[in-house]
Amino acid sequence: MAENRTEIAELGEFGLINRLAASFSNQLSSTVKGIGDDAAVIDLGEDYGLLTTDMLAEGIHFDLTFHPLRHLGYKAIAVNVSDIAAMNGTPQQVVVSLGLSNRFSVEAVEELYKGIRSACDDYKVDLVGGDTTASKSGLIISVSVFGRVAKDKITYRSTAGANDILCVTGDLGGAYIGLQILAREKQVFQADSNMQPDFEGKEYVLQRQLKPEARMDVVYELAEAGVVPTAMIDVSDGLSSEIHHICVQSGTGAVVFEENVPIDDQTVYEASALNLGPITAATNGGEDYELLFTIKPEDHPKLKNNPKITFIGYLTADKGKILLRTKSGTVLPMQAQGWQHLS
Ligand code: ADP
Ligand code: MG
Repeated sequence: MAENRTEIAELGEFGLINRLAASFSNQLSSTVKGIGDDAAVIDLGEDYGLLTTDMLAEGIHFDLTFHPLRHLGYKAIAVNVSDIAAMNGTPQQVVVSLGLSNRFSVEAVEELYKGIRSACDDYKVDLVGGDTTASKSGLIISVSVFGRVAKDKITYRSTAGANDILCVTGDLGGAYIGLQILAREKQVFQADSNMQPDFEGKEYVLQRQLKPEARMDVVYELAEAGVVPTAMIDVSDGLSSEIHHICVQSGTGAVVFEENVPIDDQTVYEASALNLGPITAATNGGEDYELLFTIKPEDHPKLKNNPKITFIGYLTADKGKILLRTKSGTVLPMQAQGWQHLS
């Protein structure tokens, strides 16, 4: 046994998934797309069905010392809906599974479910089932979402082309900066429990971390504008990582202009206060749950006045070569930390 042991960290998260997936092939003609995109795609006849799952584990994805249970419930739904949004689809049903330790009271679980219900209302999805079990190592929340998309509207990661314009919704880096502030305030509190956390003026970045939104609003606005992106993914692991996914799967490269990457003023200010570069938070931070997508240049006029969308660069024919042009004009390879997530 011992000589055959490979550490998971050696492969990284994506390497591990690829290795496990290699021994599976799809047996059903209704399985249109299996592993490798934001959601699996199932042929339902007239439409495609979309199926995705994401798990949140205590101590890995959240810390209950500062994450209100209601926000956590909301986030568990939102991050899953975000993967349906990334396929240009509409979420419909969710199932929620919980691993609970005896640390939790009925009232605490009800509080979690208030957030779940609020997200179900906001995204117009029905909670239709789940599973409940005991857990010895903290709270685990696993959510799966089923959604739908018209066959001619689906957006994969693998279908972008050279010269397509790279677009991103909202702003980036806030969730990561919010997390750094929460971690710092926790340390201060642990050192001296008389110290009250200082969250004033930091509400936006904290909300980005604790209660993110899926960009279903943009999915509807793309439909209204008559635009089907050539590729789309949601920003869960950081902009660099997601651009790598689109480029590797589409066989393209990319050029990103640092000055175009949207970063909120509060993120810039708080990043500087933490001695962090705002662009690093935006490109490698993750958990923003914005949408990254590509469009044909001729569709640019249809979106150029939408304040929720920023054009950050373009794709090239240089396969896998992803470059960042900094504000000073230097061109650097764009590193993607998300590619070594478990290491
Ligand atoms: P996302 O960040 O969009 O949720 P992930 O990076 O988690 O996507 O997963 C990438 C792909 O790998 C998806 O198709 C996902 O369904 C699949 N995947 C992840 N973990 C496993 C696993 N343990 N077994 C099979 N497929 C997996
Ligand atoms: Mg995703």
